[in-house]
Amino acid sequence: MRKEKCFVESLRFSTATVGSDPRSGYNARQFPLISLEAYFLMTVRTRIAPSPTGDPHVGTAYIALFNMAFARQHGGEFILRIEDTDQTRSTAESEQAIFDSLRWLGLEWAEGPDKPGPHGPYRQSERSDIYKHHTQILLDEGKAFKCYRTAEELDQLRNQRREQGLQSALKESDLALPADEVAKREAAGEPYVVRMKVPEEGVCVFDDMLRGSIEVEWSQVDCQILMKSDGMPTYHLANVVDDHLMEITHVLRGEEWISSAPKHQLLYSYFGWDMPQLCHMPLLRNPDKSKLSKRKNPTSIIYYQRMGYMAKALINYLARMGWSMPDEREKFSLEEMIENFDINRVSLGGPIFDQEKLSWLNGMWIREELSDEQFAAEFQKWALNPEYLMQIIPLIKQRVEKFTDVAPVAGFLLSGMLPITEESFTHKSLQLEDTRRILQFASWMLDTEQNWEKDHLFAQFKLLGEAMGFKIRDVLFPIFVAIAGTSQSVSVVDSMQVLGPDMSRARVRHALNTVGGPSKKEAKRWEKEYRDVAKALTEA
Ligand code: GLU
Repeated sequence: MRKEKCFVESLRFSTATVGSDPRSGYNARQFPLISLEAYFLMTVRTRIAPSPTGDPHVGTAYIALFNMAFARQHGGEFILRIEDTDQTRSTAESEQAIFDSLRWLGLEWAEGPDKPGPHGPYRQSERSDIYKHHTQILLDEGKAFKCYRTAEELDQLRNQRREQGLQSALKESDLALPADEVAKREAAGEPYVVRMKVPEEGVCVFDDMLRGSIEVEWSQVDCQILMKSDGMPTYHLANVVDDHLMEITHVLRGEEWISSAPKHQLLYSYFGWDMPQLCHMPLLRNPDKSKLSKRKNPTSIIYYQRMGYMAKALINYLARMGWSMPDEREKFSLEEMIENFDINRVSLGGPIFDQEKLSWLNGMWIREELSDEQFAAEFQKWALNPEYLMQIIPLIKQRVEKFTDVAPVAGFLLSGMLPITEESFTHKSLQLEDTRRILQFASWMLDTEQNWEKDHLFAQFKLLGEAMGFKIRDVLFPIFVAIAGTSQSVSVVDSMQVLGPDMSRARVRHALNTVGGPSKKEAKRWEKEYRDVAKALTEA
């Protein structure tokens, strides 16, 4: 049934796009044309579409795992697409970290930015012409409109609507300007965005593989921006166009995207395309049931690698997030998961990502799956690899006289949480309350820090000290203890750079808990105070 629909659609699409489009200067031959032959070979295709902003997230690995298991179970393909249309936040390092960490976990893709395939390029920043072409189609067919509203006008409009108690989303009719005003702005070359038209009334109904039919009132759906004033597409347009052109048949993604589905469904129907089947996976949660966030729990895959977990155990644990083997066994491999995979066994209750449980499972993997020789080889790869050693040696060389000094001096760079107590923070002038406050403010500062370069970190701590009224030496004292277990250690910002963001953040948080954390009252007061400090940090 599904195949037939795809077939009709692909024929329509093939004939409609052969040749070039004089309107946009876009050569449609770049589109993949689906032939009869391809139809008979048509396979399940899933994808993961991470944005390369920040550290590779365990949530990305979790979604990648289920996409891969689903595709492999159907003899299909799993591909990797990089959604880097937010050029201000996307970085090449982050993209590389996504590749490295997914590969470390054994989640290999069939096509991707570094694996050319017939549907490339697989990096959205390299697909601008494709998005422009499709935006033009929607404009020409009256399914999208140019919006010349300025940011101030939009704020004003939103305020007005709030005052009037209007709950519904923004529609074309709300944004309309008199025709002569539009002409004036157009003639003056003023910036505009392209928005999609969205029905004002009625109900959007779409299917989710796990949740069945979902209904959303159109009145709650904004006339979404599709193309920004800089000519870059938004997530919604790029995602729909790419999923179609890359022949994605099933979209398994986090439940936070459910609210985007009506817009996507509408876009698919505007283009006359079939929508892939949607499956919104439950979100990973902290043990307190809140959404997994780096403020409460390390979220970077790199952290778990650095913490010394086995990739196979982490994959096993992620597979247990909302899914179980038919015989409910806890320990199983990726291959065993794929053999037994059934998407209907995903349960929707928010799965809790609990590090203690992961450690227990990892212990089983180490004891049962690694011979002594394999343990030695794995440990060597983890701790004594040249790349890591070369980061450590320059830091400790000046502090050792013989090799027996290495372990005591560098041990904290090969450890997880350190055995610190309240006494570890005893200081001649800092009171315990000062220490708690510094650790809490530092923790908040580090949670949002993007640049983990040591000189930058040092400058930020200096500013933090100034804003809090402490000398840099004093501010750094509790950080030293948090990061290295003692203040008599190698440069703390160097160590943080080596340990990376998530391990450093986790240690500062651990230190804060060791000294008792803030009381409820303090937390409220400090949060308010920190807002001013944060302002000083960003304005500097
Ligand atoms: N770029 C989105 C993300 O970062 C992709 C969401 C989707 O799978 O549609 O998660």
